Amino acid sequence: MIIHLKKNLNKQRIEEIAQLVKAIFYVKDDIAVLVTPAGLKELPKEIQDDVDQFWPMKNDLQLANKQYRSERRTVKIGNTIIGGSTNNVVLIGGPCSVESLEQIDSASILMKDLNLSTLRGGCYKPRTSPYSFQGLGLEGLKLLDKMREKHGLNVITEVRDATQIEEVIQYSDVIQVGAKAMYDQGILRACAKTQKPVLIKRGFGSTLQEFAQAAEFVLSGGNENVILCERGIRTFETGTRFTLDLCGVAWLKEYTNLPIVLDPSHAMGYAYGISDLSKACLAMGIDGLLIEVHPDPKNAKSDAAQQLNYAEFTKLVGELKAMAGVLNYNLV
Ligand code: PEP
Ligand code: MN
Repeated sequence: MIIHLKKNLNKQRIEEIAQLVKAIFYVKDDIAVLVTPAGLKELPKEIQDDVDQFWPMKNDLQLANKQYRSERRTVKIGNTIIGGSTNNVVLIGGPCSVESLEQIDSASILMKDLNLSTLRGGCYKPRTSPYSFQGLGLEGLKLLDKMREKHGLNVITEVRDATQIEEVIQYSDVIQVGAKAMYDQGILRACAKTQKPVLIKRGFGSTLQEFAQAAEFVLSGGNENVILCERGIRTFETGTRFTLDLCGVAWLKEYTNLPIVLDPSHAMGYAYGISDLSKACLAMGIDGLLIEVHPDPKNAKSDAAQQLNYAEFTKLVGELKAMAGVLNYNLV
């Protein structure tokens, strides 16, 4: 159950109530928001006078649940709004990894030329092998920060472990929690302690409920700026890298209140499918797209097979803009 207490209750009373109903809580705009384990149907008598509103919940999809907030939440990425009723589709574009000043500067120029707002680039790469390129780390973050300054782009980059959160917050506008990190509660709890937007990618072996519950770790700590990203799940099919779960996206739209980003690049794993998939994603009525683009994909230090080259990306963005016009979305 989610409980909103009356405004300006003193801390001691809030803590008493939280203990009584076994809730965790955070305080926002002078209102304490308590979340109890799911299943509690009625308010205990002794707290009724302190409660403003409450929502019984059947399971632990609570703060992210549409039953709690029927409107999709908005999250501010720099000056760009994602979610809500904006009709914005934020196209997060850029290379898999930040590799050099020259590389990230040229990707930034491409993004600016196409009037797009949000640049991606990994600096702490969660690779499957310890022998592959692990990312430029802090040096890469500083390059992203430079791009933010020079080109006025929003920047998103991932954390590989919780010790990197402070650095990532300092140099970027969104913290990306990767698919492999979705279950890392150290990372999720650290993300909960900031107000920085957090984009959580779906673990490729997790159910939709588990995915949404990862978001609950951040929301219930008081950070309401959470974005969900579907990036493909593992199925029996090995012809493509993963399987983009568009049915799952319909589920997320139906049952959750968080902005939704779709990542066809990591789902497909091969450049040839990205253009068609991106259009299918846009047709789903989502809030953002994540597409990897590199000046020289063949020689990329990570995810070489799936990154678009500039010509492919430029053509795709043109097509997506035309489609967005018809569907009344703003591709930003
Ligand atoms: C990435 O965005 O480059 C990445 C590693 O994604 P994922 O966590 O979805 O594999
Ligand atoms: Mn990648």
